[in-house]
Amino acid sequence: MTTRRIFLQKAGISTLALSLPYTNTLSAMQTEKEDKILRVAIMGLGSYGTRVAEAMKDCKRAKLVGVVSGTPSKITDWQSKYGIPAKNCYNYETFDQIKDNPDIDVVYMTTPNSLHKPHCLRIAAAGKHVISEKPMALNAAEGREMVAACKKAGVHLLVGYRMHFEPKTLEVVRMQRAGELGETLFFQGLSGFIIGDPTQWRLNRELAGGGSMMDIGIYSVNGTRYMLGEEPIWVTAQESKTDPVKFKEGVDETITFQMGFPSGAMASCLSTYALNNLDKFFLNGTKGFAEMQPSTGYGPIKAWTKNGPIEREHVTHQTVQMDEMAAIMLDGKKPVIPVDGEEGLKDLVIIDAIYEAVKTGEKVMLG
Ligand code: NAD
Repeated sequence: MTTRRIFLQKAGISTLALSLPYTNTLSAMQTEKEDKILRVAIMGLGSYGTRVAEAMKDCKRAKLVGVVSGTPSKITDWQSKYGIPAKNCYNYETFDQIKDNPDIDVVYMTTPNSLHKPHCLRIAAAGKHVISEKPMALNAAEGREMVAACKKAGVHLLVGYRMHFEPKTLEVVRMQRAGELGETLFFQGLSGFIIGDPTQWRLNRELAGGGSMMDIGIYSVNGTRYMLGEEPIWVTAQESKTDPVKFKEGVDETITFQMGFPSGAMASCLSTYALNNLDKFFLNGTKGFAEMQPSTGYGPIKAWTKNGPIEREHVTHQTVQMDEMAAIMLDGKKPVIPVDGEEGLKDLVIIDAIYEAVKTGEKVMLG
C-alpha cells in the first residue's frame, strides 16, 4: 500500500473520494461523518426496550434502525413508529443473519436476564457489538463466557448502566475521588419496590436467575462500587421471606448484604421486592456526606451534600447513555465509570458471593 493511501485512510478520506469533483468529495466526506452514528437494533420489544427506543429519538450519535422480536405485530408496529425498514427486522430464529447486514452496528438486548448470555454469543458470532441490559447474565460464569466471546469476535460488550452517565451521580463521584468528602468509610445502598403480577418473568427463577437481587439489588451492588471507587474483598448477607408463595425457592424477596473494602470502608445494603419507593444512596466520609434519593430511578435524581443540594439539569438517562455509548464504540471514548463487560462481570461476581453468603451464613472472601 502506498504511503499516500495509508495517509488518506488515516485521514478518513478514500482515494475514490479524492478523485471525484469537489462537491462529490464533500458529500463523500459527509457520508463518512454520518457513518459515525451508532446504528442500533433493539432485541426484545417490551417495556424497557420501548423506553430506550423513545429516548433514542433525541440522540445525536445513536439511531434506532432495527429490531429483533418474536412477535410479528410488534415488529410492524415499531416499523411504522420508528421508520424501520423490513430488511432490518429479525426474529429469534433469523437474527444470526444480521452478520450480512452492513446497516446495523450493535444489538441492544432488552430481554429477560437468562436470554442475555445465549443471545450475546450469537450476536458476537455475527460480528456485531452487544449492549446487554442489567444484570448482564445469570452468574459470573456466564458473564465470563460473554466477555470472552466478545473479545474473541473483536466486538464491544457494554452493559446498560445508565446511572454511570447521570450528571448528579457523576458530581458525587467526582467529589469522592477529589477527596472532598474526606476518607469515605461508609456507604449505604437501599433498592426496592413492591413487585406485582406473580406470573411475570422477574419471579421465574429460570428467566430471572433469582429475585430482587438480580433486578434491583444490583443497583446497590454497582452503586457501592462506583461511589466508593473500590472493589470489595468480602461479603456477608442475610435473607428474609414474608411471602414464600409469591417468592418461590431461588427467588429472593429481601436480602440485606454487607461488603468490606481494602481501605477499611464498609457498605450496608438492602435489596427487596417487598417495600415501595426504596431508592437511596448515602455516602459518608471523614469530612462529610453525600446523599441521593431517588438515586437510581429514571429521575429526576435528587442529591445533596453537607454544602447543600447538587443542582444539575435533568437528562433522560437513556438518551445520554446511548450517545455516550456511541462515543465509546465509535471514538474509543473512556467513560468516567466503566460500562463494559468486565464491569458487568464484577457485579455478577459479587451477586454470586451474596447468594453464597445467604446459603452458607458464612463471610465470603473475594478476589
Ligand atoms: P419486559 O417483560 O417488559 O420485556 C421483555 C421483552 O422480551 C418482551 O418484549 C418479551 O416479549 C421479550 N421476550 C423474548 N423472549 C422472551 C421469553 N422467553 N420470555 C419472556 N419474554 C421474552 O421486561 P423489561 O422490563 O423490558 O426488562 C427487560 C430487561 O431490561 C431485563 O434484563 C431488565 O433487568 C432490564 N431493565 C433495565 C432497566 C434499566 O433501568 N436499566 C429497567 C427495566 C428493565
